[in-house]
Amino acid sequence: MKTIVANWKMNGGHVLAHALAAASTPSKHKIILCPPLTLLSHTKGVTLGAQDCSAEHKGAYTGDVSAAMLKEAGCEWVILGHSERRQHHQETDALIQRKLDIASASHLGIILCVGESLAEHEAGKAEDIVKKQLSFLPRHLPPTMRHFMIAYEPVWAIGTGLTPTNEQIDTMHQFIKAQVADVKVLYGGSVKPENIQEILAIPSVDGALVGGASIDPSAWKKIVQS
Ligand code: PEP
Repeated sequence: MKTIVANWKMNGGHVLAHALAAASTPSKHKIILCPPLTLLSHTKGVTLGAQDCSAEHKGAYTGDVSAAMLKEAGCEWVILGHSERRQHHQETDALIQRKLDIASASHLGIILCVGESLAEHEAGKAEDIVKKQLSFLPRHLPPTMRHFMIAYEPVWAIGTGLTPTNEQIDTMHQFIKAQVADVKVLYGGSVKPENIQEILAIPSVDGALVGGASIDPSAWKKIVQS
C-alpha cells in the first residue's frame, strides 16, 4: 500500500471539502487530506493532516496554531518544511526542526518536505541541498518518530507541469533512504492522473504528495483510484 497526501494549500470552501472527502474513498492506498484549518471540520470520514504548525507550544503568538491544537482538531499528520513556507515565510532548517520536535511531542505524524530549486538542480547540487535539509535528523529515527515520512519535492516541479525523469526520482529517493534508515519517501511535484501510476510504480517511491490536482474532484478521484 502506498500513501497519497493531498495538500490543498489556501484553496477551497466547505462545498469543495465535501466533494474532495467523498472522492477520497474507496482507495487501495492510504489517503491523507490536508485542507486549510477552517475546513478541517468539513472534511469528514478521512485521515486529516495540517499544512504547518507553530514552533511554539502555546502563548502570545497571534495567528499561530499549535501542534496540540491540531491534534485536538482531528489532525493525525502535519506537513512541515514545504517549499512555500521556506520561500514565503523564510522558514529555516532550524525552525523546521523545532516544529518537528513539537509536532512529535504532540503525537502528530510528520511529512517533512525537502527539495532543490531550479538553479540548484541545474548546478548539479540537488543531493547536497537535500542532504543539508535532512542533516538535523538522526540516521536512525527514535521510536517517538515512528509516524514520519519525507516528501521529495523538487521546487522546480511544484505547480509547473514539469517532473523529473523516473530515474531521477528513483536516484533521489534512494539517496534519501541512504541518509535516513527505514523511512518512507513520497514524491511531490506536478503529480496528475496521467503520471500517478508510473510514479507509484517506481519501487523507491512510497507514495505521492499532490497539490494542484488534489483540489479538482475528478482528477483527485482518478489519483485516489490509481
Ligand atoms: C505541492 O505543493 O506540494 C505540490 C506537490 O504541488 P503540485 O502537485 O501542484 O505540483
